[in-house]
Amino acid sequence: MSLYHSPLYKDALAQLELASEAMGADPNIIERLKYPKRAIQVSVPIRLDDGTVKTFEAFRVQHNITLGPGKGGIRFHPDVDLSETTALAMLMTFKCALVGLPLGGAKGGIRVNPSELSRQELQALTRRYATEIGPFVGPDKDIPAPDIGTDAQTMAWFMDTYSQINGYAAHGVVTGKPISVGGSLGRAAATGRGVAYCVNFAYDRMGKKIDTNTTVAIHGFGKVGTPAAEDLSAQGAKIVAVSDVSGAIYNESGLDVPAAIDWVKSGKVLKDLPGAKLISNDELLALDVDILIPAAIDGVVTSKNMETVRASLIAEGANGPLTKEAITYLSDKGVFIIPDILCNAGGVIVSYFEWVQGLANFFWDEDEVNKKLHRILKEAFDDVMSKHTKYKVDMKKAAMIAALAKLEAAMKLRGLFPG
Ligand code: NAD
Repeated sequence: MSLYHSPLYKDALAQLELASEAMGADPNIIERLKYPKRAIQVSVPIRLDDGTVKTFEAFRVQHNITLGPGKGGIRFHPDVDLSETTALAMLMTFKCALVGLPLGGAKGGIRVNPSELSRQELQALTRRYATEIGPFVGPDKDIPAPDIGTDAQTMAWFMDTYSQINGYAAHGVVTGKPISVGGSLGRAAATGRGVAYCVNFAYDRMGKKIDTNTTVAIHGFGKVGTPAAEDLSAQGAKIVAVSDVSGAIYNESGLDVPAAIDWVKSGKVLKDLPGAKLISNDELLALDVDILIPAAIDGVVTSKNMETVRASLIAEGANGPLTKEAITYLSDKGVFIIPDILCNAGGVIVSYFEWVQGLANFFWDEDEVNKKLHRILKEAFDDVMSKHTKYKVDMKKAAMIAALAKLEAAMKLRGLFPG
């Protein structure tokens, strides 16, 4: 199967080409960015609890490391393949460049359904994967993090395996670790908090203030959606609807956000929350609200339902929740769209802080983490706005242009080896 077959890769390439065209980027730089620097496939055999051996296909792709070590999550999911991993690595290159981190873009994954494995099997899988890709990762080379199907425990096993092999406690090899093994305060909520910061920056630009009349609908009430809801409701906004795979709950006077969070944290789905008025996920997307935050999965607002969306501000909390057609249509209608590589960059920014703290063995309090996160996101937001005005393009293209401009400058200065 080709490295480049997946729709996600084709979409990432299209975004790159459109931005390049709009800004008149150097074609020799774009030619290099179309391909990953390194794409590794490894086999991960493990002994299952029943004594049999099963082998899983696994990947690590480093798309570009001009600005610094590779950075990107590790996904455990049955659909993982080399092409999708390559596309996600490419998007990480642009995300890190956009927010000015000294990091490149990478991504990894194992083609597995983690819910079918026991804890012991998952540990074996993670440790063998860490061993197989071990020569290519490290605090100065490539720093993985959690993604779909992986969590802080996965990172602790990865960090321990790498540390055992190298003979020292290597905090800087992964981020998203538990606090007790070198994680950063504020990391868990960072992506959702960053979404809320971006909503505030956008509201300032729109000449509006978040208050008790501001209504918000959040599609996807997970690691991104819940802190965004908490932050915006603490500012006074009314969170009128939130959803998960089971459906959406709605209250036009505003939901009890802490109660919904406690319910979800206890492992239950939203549709079973007592007293909640149920609506469908599609109805949530079409609610007459001020702010819509799609924070679940990609491709939820498409050419099929874009005309039903009524929010005046859309914050892309998930990766790629709006298709190209939806972005063009809604931007033309005057909807303010905060693009994903900006809106959900809070996670990688605080991952960067975790890496820095781990290398220095000096840890910051949460207030310091949040202040630094706010400053970096504000600078990136202003940069995207200035590209939006200068090149007269939609916000999605503007974000890609802002990222590309930084990458292009660095790649030109470093030159093409061997010349
Ligand atoms: P999560 O698994 O914690 O939460 C996902 C939420 O979406 C859950 O409530 C789930 O029930 C819901 N959901 C899943 N499929 C759905 C569907 N078809 N319809 C409606 N709801 C559905 O995941 P997360 O970490 O919050 O990530 C959400 C998105 O944000 C993903 O696109 C992810 O790639 C992106 N993202 C996450 C982070 C991070 O730090 N967690 C950082 C950057 C980007």
